[in-house]
Amino acid sequence: MDELHNQVFSPGSLPELFSSWSRFPDAVLFSGGTELVRGQGGLVFRLPRNLIALGRIEELRRFSRTERFLDIGATATLSEILALGKILPEALRRAIAETANPQVRNLATIGGNICCPSRRMDTFAPLVALDARLELRTAVSSRWISASRFAPAFGPPLLGANELLTRIRLPLETWDYCVHRRLGTSRWPDDEGAVFSFIARAQKGILSDVRMAFAGKTLVRDREIDNAIIGKSLPLEARMATAFVDRWRTAVAEAQFPSGLLKDRFLNLVEQAVFGLCD
Ligand SMILES: Cc1cc2nc3c(=O)[nH]c(=O)nc-3n(C[C@H](O)[C@H](O)[C@H](O)COP(=O)(O)OP(=O)(O)OC[C@H]3O[C@@H](n4cnc5c(N)ncnc54)[C@H](O)[C@@H]3O)c2cc1C
Repeated sequence: MDELHNQVFSPGSLPELFSSWSRFPDAVLFSGGTELVRGQGGLVFRLPRNLIALGRIEELRRFSRTERFLDIGATATLSEILALGKILPEALRRAIAETANPQVRNLATIGGNICCPSRRMDTFAPLVALDARLELRTAVSSRWISASRFAPAFGPPLLGANELLTRIRLPLETWDYCVHRRLGTSRWPDDEGAVFSFIARAQKGILSDVRMAFAGKTLVRDREIDNAIIGKSLPLEARMATAFVDRWRTAVAEAQFPSGLLKDRFLNLVEQAVFGLCD
């Protein structure tokens, strides 16, 4: 009888959520809903038949902090995260500040941003660069996965059946250098859009860590190439910066990008970011 009707569940706890989800395994999670209703201008929204709204689950909204990590609940809104201020790593703060507009950011959640099935949205590149980890739960299991392993180069994120993103764990490290660029022709992240995130830090004039990620329709990251300039002195020698760009040029030569133009723009950004370390 239940199956004949549209249903909206609004659980107040994770056990309640998983109980509803096991009865209606086709139910779709509704967090801020901004992605689910995007592009619908009519009076009546078209929504999946069964929905599970996450908004009443207190545990999913929480922030907590230790000396080394910031944990962000999956249903924290982008505005709430921005309001954390200076504690937020610059790469993520800038990505969130450039996402949509304040009205959308008041509703949109970080969990919905990360789990969007059609492409990697704007917080994803900085989360990968920052080595964020994601906590995923089902009714019977819980696991942590790095943001970079959560998404393949192309295609939807690697969420299992009836698996929920519950928390995002951000390492609280200091970065001395941050290049953030949002590419795209429209405000909305389309196929030609992507976010580029390049962060680096130095100790006593030596590059001690470098991380780069590019995410949109495709996810590009290579720790081996990042590592090629770690340990070099600053300012970086131009020939090392050139070698870094050349390695990327070779690495993406055969890679699938939505367009040749986007690949060229990616390589230009790599060049700008790494030559910025030569100044
Ligand atoms: C006008 C407009 C402009 C926008 N501009 C931007 C932009 O500039 N940059 C950008 O990145 N995005 C943009 N968006 C898209 C969207 O607002 C964001 O990606 C937002 O963060 C999605 O979060 P949400 O909570 O609204 O997701 P929802 O719509 O609730 O969910 C999105 C998807 O994730 C799944 N999901 C949600 N939470 C979880 C969870 N905890 N675990 C597992 N699956 C989950 C849902 O089932 C759904 O498939 C825009 C949207 C609109 C309407």
